[in-house]
Amino acid sequence: MKEKDKLYGKLITNFAKASSSDEALLGLLEDVQQALSFSPDFADKANQIFPTIEYYQSQFSTWDKELIVHLFLEKEYLSALERKFWHPTMKFYGYIDITKVFLFQETKTEGIINGSLILNTPIGECLELSVDEVRKRIKSLTLGWSVPRGDVGHVDILDLVEDLDDFVQLKEEKKKRYSSDIIEEYEKKFESYEELKSAHSLLDEIQKSTIELLDRICENKSISKDEPLIYDYNELGAINRVGVSKDGTLEKSFRDYESALLSIDEKESFPERFNKLKGVISYSLVEFLLNSVNVNYLKKCHDCKYCFIAKILRKDNRFCSTECKNHFHNVQKSPKENKDAVEAFRNKKKETLKLKEYENRIQHMVEQGWTEKKAKEMLNNLKDDL
Ligand SMILES: [Zn+2]
Repeated sequence: MKEKDKLYGKLITNFAKASSSDEALLGLLEDVQQALSFSPDFADKANQIFPTIEYYQSQFSTWDKELIVHLFLEKEYLSALERKFWHPTMKFYGYIDITKVFLFQETKTEGIINGSLILNTPIGECLELSVDEVRKRIKSLTLGWSVPRGDVGHVDILDLVEDLDDFVQLKEEKKKRYSSDIIEEYEKKFESYEELKSAHSLLDEIQKSTIELLDRICENKSISKDEPLIYDYNELGAINRVGVSKDGTLEKSFRDYESALLSIDEKESFPERFNKLKGVISYSLVEFLLNSVNVNYLKKCHDCKYCFIAKILRKDNRFCSTECKNHFHNVQKSPKENKDAVEAFRNKKKETLKLKEYENRIQHMVEQGWTEKKAKEMLNNLKDDL
């Protein structure tokens, strides 16, 4: 297999195997740097543009926790209200902080197919209702109350009123406790966090279709006609560029693509930004598969069940890694052997814990004013009692 093809294969299989979207993302950015020969600092730069969830969450620690919790709660309540205010001809739009009104829109149903509404067009202006007004006409704003209790879609009116009151109270408390500047700043951060989360679920989806596609290829050793991930390749103008190299030969050039990935368009949302990464997956996959011999190197691990690229072609190439090989054989052992292995593992863990506890105690004593040497002496004398 060609070196380049190995890198493409590695990119795809690593991406498929990652255990979280953060892991998938970090690995992908590094693998892309290698596979497409991007600049050495590409991954560092790209990490800023394609942030991990963990990075965002670590930011929370420097923020006002109460306000963050407050915003999370508000969101929970708002989605509960959205769920409960369902009505075929009335749409719930949300709440306006400044004027303290709930927004509804009356709609007209244009048609029904197989019992489901196909088009709702708005009638007249939006309704702006205070919480009291909503309470008064609540039965005309949701149809959930008419669904029998216990059925999906049933809405308890008392519950709904309670949610409404809590929600308004949350909004008022927030205004009392924080300045509007702070609220605005945090709401922006919060919104972009929510947006990042949906960008990450996009990665999850791409990962899911990559796994399914690799599985199908592994099993059939051929590619079926309609594989969206593969046909995306044809639309990848930015990656598929050819340029003249220094020595006057033609070569594929990824410079434009690298700068396209690293450029930030302020108007672009996280999901739009992350969507660009799909191109890399598609490109690597196709480049790998274009040489049909490579398919034979694509194997499925007997232990973790993920596809991997075999280093050399052998019949008994069954595991993606030594860990998987060992794990597989351990699981196959007799119950007694397994029990012993677990016991040994536990003992080892106990030892490690003990050692850690010992170190903690020494540190604690040093903090109390003991010298480290003296503390160790004391503890060694007491060791058998500990
Ligand atoms: Zn494995």
